[in-house]
Amino acid sequence: MDSNNDNAIRLVVFGRQGAGKGTQATRLAHHYGIPHISTGDMLRAAVKDGTELGLKAKAIMDAGQLVSDEIMLGVIEERLAQPDAAPGWLLDGFPRTAPQAQALLNMVGENGIDVALDLDVPEDVVVDRISSRRVCADCGAIYSVNSEADASDCAKCGGRLVQRDDDTEESIRKRLALYNEQTAPLLELFDGIGLLATVNGVGEPDEITEKLIAIVDERIGS
Ligand code: ADP
Repeated sequence: MDSNNDNAIRLVVFGRQGAGKGTQATRLAHHYGIPHISTGDMLRAAVKDGTELGLKAKAIMDAGQLVSDEIMLGVIEERLAQPDAAPGWLLDGFPRTAPQAQALLNMVGENGIDVALDLDVPEDVVVDRISSRRVCADCGAIYSVNSEADASDCAKCGGRLVQRDDDTEESIRKRLALYNEQTAPLLELFDGIGLLATVNGVGEPDEITEKLIAIVDERIGS
């Protein structure tokens, strides 16, 4: 992959479950006109479509465990080779383990990533957020509800708002523990190669988006 001498924008977004990563990643990708590559969304689409990947991933995801590095590397390699990823990409949910991070860096090189953004939100805040998270069963838009009465239809497409199958208390606890064990150490790795920028993820979503855009603009020199 030619990743060093073009104007492509390549971003990685980190953040524990419920940090607002999916929401901010969608906005950033839209702002920069690059595909939002969410491995969680890709896996959920595969489950919905009943593909071989989906059949393999469903039970693992519902239990809050991680799909194997081997499978995830295949998924990402194939996705980054798609034509729409030529102008760049935003990775959300990948890399999540040391082997995934190493494989990504081998694939694109340290210069092939502009910045790795870490949306930092404390663990006690995210647990509350996840229990009020609802997603549109049709388009995947993310909402926060204060009561079940609030959970009507998707404002974007009219689809039904549902709780994710893996947003059970047990699965959330497991995913947060895995994040601390496997993914948090990657922040040091990206910091060590000068690619990490940490942003406080507690606050108004619009302000957080502005901060993220300011950081990316500075890194890409626009
Ligand atoms: P969350 O960050 O809330 O766990 P995601 O939508 O990012 O949600 O991922 C949902 C599930 O998909 C994960 O719990 C895991 O089972 C699987 N998954 C997503 N990305 C990866 C990855 N890079 N490596 C392994 N498993 C993954």
